[in-house]
Amino acid sequence: MENKKKIFSIILVLAMVIGTVALSGCTQETKNKIIVGTSADFAPFEYKLANQTIVGFDIDLIKKVLTDQGYTVEVQDIQFDSLIPALQQGKIDVIAAAMTIDDERKQQVDFSIPYYDSNQTVLVKVGGGVNITTIEDLKNYTVGAQTGTTGWDWVNDTLVATGKLNKDKFRGYDLYTDAVADLIIGPSRVGAVVIDTPVAQAFANKGNVKIVLNITTNESYGFAVKKGDTVLVNKINAGLTAVAATTYWEELIEKYFAT
Ligand code: GLN
Repeated sequence: MENKKKIFSIILVLAMVIGTVALSGCTQETKNKIIVGTSADFAPFEYKLANQTIVGFDIDLIKKVLTDQGYTVEVQDIQFDSLIPALQQGKIDVIAAAMTIDDERKQQVDFSIPYYDSNQTVLVKVGGGVNITTIEDLKNYTVGAQTGTTGWDWVNDTLVATGKLNKDKFRGYDLYTDAVADLIIGPSRVGAVVIDTPVAQAFANKGNVKIVLNITTNESYGFAVKKGDTVLVNKINAGLTAVAATTYWEELIEKYFAT
């Protein structure tokens, strides 16, 4: 009887130990979860499938990089101009949104090493009667861009601030997909959209819109982390460098950029 009691209490202690270990394992796992914020309206970098799953070059890449570094990843869709505030408030840990590394943003967030280069383009409707061959021609149309982007900055700095485009003819959109939808409706809504080259190309491939001007802005995309989050940014950089040296990189390019 005495022995049975002893065995029982040993089992009880063991169960408690195992329970504690299992629980702390869970806490560890939660800590290792990274929330990635994106704006899923920017194919082929980030977009939604019909079933609402978020996919794209950025999404595959950041998932690969972070899982290789031992993290689990959750992706959240957030409007582009709310991504930096969300990062600063700690709602997300990383921005993966084809975000251009620029000086203004560098004061608010820390960027990874660059992973993709881009310029800007002017997109118009095919057969919409829009006649744009130079930057000066833009003044004859309503020009759209997504708020908070470098495309928006370009229109504002190069056209509006210099008086080349009337302020009333500049239209900011929450989403680039809405800007392009308006473009397809016609010039009465918006005549031209200024947008990153690879994304303009992806929209143009669908046939309703085409690129009429290239604007050299020499941008590079980076993943962003909260200012001072050096542990995470170093891991992302190590992961990016490792992935760039493998065939995974070419596979990703092939998967998302082959026409
Ligand atoms: N590369 C542009 C920027 O950083 C556009 C990004 C986007 O719209 N997702 O502003």
